[in-house]
Amino acid sequence: MSAKSRTRTPARELLFGNLWEYDPAPETASPHLQDRYTLFVNGKWVAPKTKKFFPSISPRNGEILAEIGQAGAADVDAAYQSAAAAFPAWSKLPGAERGKYLYRIARLLQDRAREFAVAETLDGGKPIKESRDFDVPMAAAHFFYHAGWADKLDCVMPGKKLAPLGVVGQIIPWNFPLLMLAWKLAPALACGNTVVLKPAETTSITCLKFATILQEAGLPPGVVNFVTGAGETGAAVVNHPLAKKIAFTGSTAVGKGIQRALAGSGKKLTLELGGKAANIIFEDAAIDQAVEGIVNGIFFNQGHVCCAGSRLLVQESIASSVLQKLKIRLRSLRVGDPMDKNTDIGAINSLKQWEKIDELVKTGVAEGAELYQAPCVLPQRGYYYAASIFTNVSLSHRIAQEEIFGPVLSVLTFRTPEEAVEKANNTPFGLSAGVWTDKGSLILKMSSELKAGVVWANTYNKFDPTSPFGGYKESGFGREGGKQGLLEYAEMV
Ligand code: ADP
Repeated sequence: MSAKSRTRTPARELLFGNLWEYDPAPETASPHLQDRYTLFVNGKWVAPKTKKFFPSISPRNGEILAEIGQAGAADVDAAYQSAAAAFPAWSKLPGAERGKYLYRIARLLQDRAREFAVAETLDGGKPIKESRDFDVPMAAAHFFYHAGWADKLDCVMPGKKLAPLGVVGQIIPWNFPLLMLAWKLAPALACGNTVVLKPAETTSITCLKFATILQEAGLPPGVVNFVTGAGETGAAVVNHPLAKKIAFTGSTAVGKGIQRALAGSGKKLTLELGGKAANIIFEDAAIDQAVEGIVNGIFFNQGHVCCAGSRLLVQESIASSVLQKLKIRLRSLRVGDPMDKNTDIGAINSLKQWEKIDELVKTGVAEGAELYQAPCVLPQRGYYYAASIFTNVSLSHRIAQEEIFGPVLSVLTFRTPEEAVEKANNTPFGLSAGVWTDKGSLILKMSSELKAGVVWANTYNKFDPTSPFGGYKESGFGREGGKQGLLEYAEMV
């Protein structure tokens, strides 16, 4: 079945006949895109020495949004040289002065929030209501938060002073392009480091637009440099001898390769990799809230979330009623044009990712799990996937073990808290988990026994710049956010 040809009975028709049709509510603000973007090195726009460009395609309709420069090793080297030249002055600036730049950046991003939200949605496919209400405000919040730390670094670890590391190389993924940029840049700059950052090849646009904010803020040239390209460019960022630290967010396979490449190099490394989180619902939970939490846990950002609650563990006694409510709720989710303000599930980020999701879904069916897809009409153009739930899943199924990174939920049941812990921890990953129960004691027990960097209780996918985020096992190491996140960009002296 092709991404473009699947049609299903509209959800509203099933529920209400044809009476309750929504009017389209398209976002109309301009993203102010250029036809072509070069690299941002030493505060200036420079053509890639490779002379090569690649297209950034909108998953919303398959159209080319802009051409992006492909940085080669010589371009990455120029970016590192400029970051190294900027480091002495930037690192010696009083923290209060560095804080002013971060504050200014946050305010400028707020001023241009709608423009950035539209660009993010067009480039990555996420619903406009998410980029508008989550990605962009959270990105600004990270700059505000770290602006506050810049002159208080001596208070992070009592009795110790923090010194910056030098030039740091940062590689970010395509699921939260602007937000991941903020998670990486803000603490690095607050601590006095200079940066070479590479966005993901399918979502470079908001990073490159962000360069104009850095220019408006008057950030000294070379403090932040953006190089664009795919894996080869990323490898050049990782392996450059001037890098004192590499921060990577992406797939576990690439993360493992980076760890191997850096072994013995003395470079500091943080990895934020994949996940296969359990969202655990006990029989005494507030079921309607839990159903909302399940939906938010797996369908937020089309399931392109490393901490997505992609395995639902539901206590056997309530499994059938939870599933019934969940299926009804799914029918009211609107899948479609991410630029429509009513859309709940937008476009899958790329055709490659669509094919990966579809392959795993087909494997789930072949392995004997039962697939339910919410009825919906998928747009004819672009990459869309119906919200999907698998029941009759066993722990050994690939859909229970591997990260799908799409709108696909695998449902398992349990009888006792011990069994829930056993099943939740039965994964190579350890990034996040959710617990839904009325009992505080059970929340404490579960959160101490679940091997996950973040455990949400009676909520899911809640983020805050003050709260450290990161994983165990194959989900990586190091923390982003909070004091712990700052310590990843500094050494104690
Ligand atoms: P996904 O498979 O989900 O696309 P990746 O881990 O491939 O995730 O991508 C995350 C980021 O890592 C992107 O910016 C990508 O360009 C970059 N990347 C891919 N391969 C490498 C590599 N070998 N070295 C460094 N960065 C890489």
